[in-house]
Amino acid sequence: STTPIAIIGTGIAGLSAAEALHAAGYPVQLFDKSRGSGGRMASKRSDAGALDLGAQYFTARDRRFAAAVAQWQARGWVEQWTPSLYQFANGVLSPSADEQVRWVGTPRMSAITRAMLGALPVKFSCRITEVFRGERHWHLLDADGESHGPFAQVIIATPAPQASALLATAPKLAGTVAGVSMEPTWAVALAFAEPLQTPVEGCFVQDEVLDWTARNRSKPGRDATPDTWVLHASSSWSRQHLDLSKEQVIEHLHGAFAEMIGCAVPAPVFSLAHRWLYARPSAAHQLGALADADLGLYVCGDWCLSGRVEGAWLSGQEAARKLIAHNQ
Ligand code: FAD
Ligand code: NAD
Repeated sequence: STTPIAIIGTGIAGLSAAEALHAAGYPVQLFDKSRGSGGRMASKRSDAGALDLGAQYFTARDRRFAAAVAQWQARGWVEQWTPSLYQFANGVLSPSADEQVRWVGTPRMSAITRAMLGALPVKFSCRITEVFRGERHWHLLDADGESHGPFAQVIIATPAPQASALLATAPKLAGTVAGVSMEPTWAVALAFAEPLQTPVEGCFVQDEVLDWTARNRSKPGRDATPDTWVLHASSSWSRQHLDLSKEQVIEHLHGAFAEMIGCAVPAPVFSLAHRWLYARPSAAHQLGALADADLGLYVCGDWCLSGRVEGAWLSGQEAARKLIAHNQ
């Protein structure tokens, strides 16, 4: 049929599904509440250039995902990132090189989802609040009260708590999704006028406040100045300080960073904080993608699998595969 399939969410999961459906000849219509695509792989434009505040890099362990990443590389959307890696544990900062291949979007993380979206039809700044079925087709309602449709099927590709709210018509799926909890992450970017005197370019941190820090300019295609760092707070610290002001979060993370990095850390010339409310699932799952195929409703996202870019992409592929299989 020519009735399109609605996809709610233009993160990597939704776009993975969109790409697979488009390739199989299905028309799709995408929606996102944000002003652009990418979700947790988006990059923020700032006075210090584009910053990857969410996903920092990704690994490819599944053969199918590795093949997709190889294509992305051939098209110039991604490059390998080979930072000088450190770890900080028990109060000690030490080199921690390994053999793991790590990928980043170039010249920013959002380049991948931007390219995947291409010319597919999409409505941004459109928060879907209701997904309901008419006699033959699906319709969506957005936060402005506007309705969209008809759609042959619907794929919900959002974090679990946001999917829950859209599953009133499918109580069984809603039950499964309600069982998935997600943890927040506070992210901070700090820009320094003079490069910090440290060899660290990426660091796995184990302390009360921080989880990770990365030097933006060590990634391929990024501006060299100013010397900008992205800091991620741990899940537990983020949960305990969910409602702290951005200024206070910047102050805390700046302090923890200065303590662990082991060189002089001046006041930043630029700083920002971003709260990811649903950053990662509390545990890994093996859900693949959820489906009520007779109803025509599908749910995918990183939380269905590993809570990583790879898991999100695989989950989107699985949603599309199930939908196509059901239609055949
Ligand atoms: P999302 O990217 O969250 O996409 C969902 C989209 O749905 C969003 O664009 C949102 O705006 C939209 N949406 C939600 N509700 C609605 C609605 N009602 N109506 C319309 N649109 C809606 N992964 C790695 O592999 N490596 C890393 O280093 C890494 N680091 C991370 C660091 C942080 C701080 C965070 C937050 C995540 C990190 N991740 C990392 C995880 C990775 O970013 C995610 O697994 C992946 O991007 C999730 O993709 P997704 O499509 O499932 O969801
Ligand atoms: P990966 O293999 O590089 O890292 C996996 C984990 O192994 C790391 O978290 C770290 O604990 C450990 N590790 C790996 N290399 C190390 C080294 N050289 N020295 C010390 N420890 C090392 O990547 P992955 O498996 O693709 O995982 C993706 C990364 O994304 C993880 O670090 C994860 O914590 C992070 N992530 C963060 C969020 C968030 O909200 N902050 C959400 C999802 C994923």
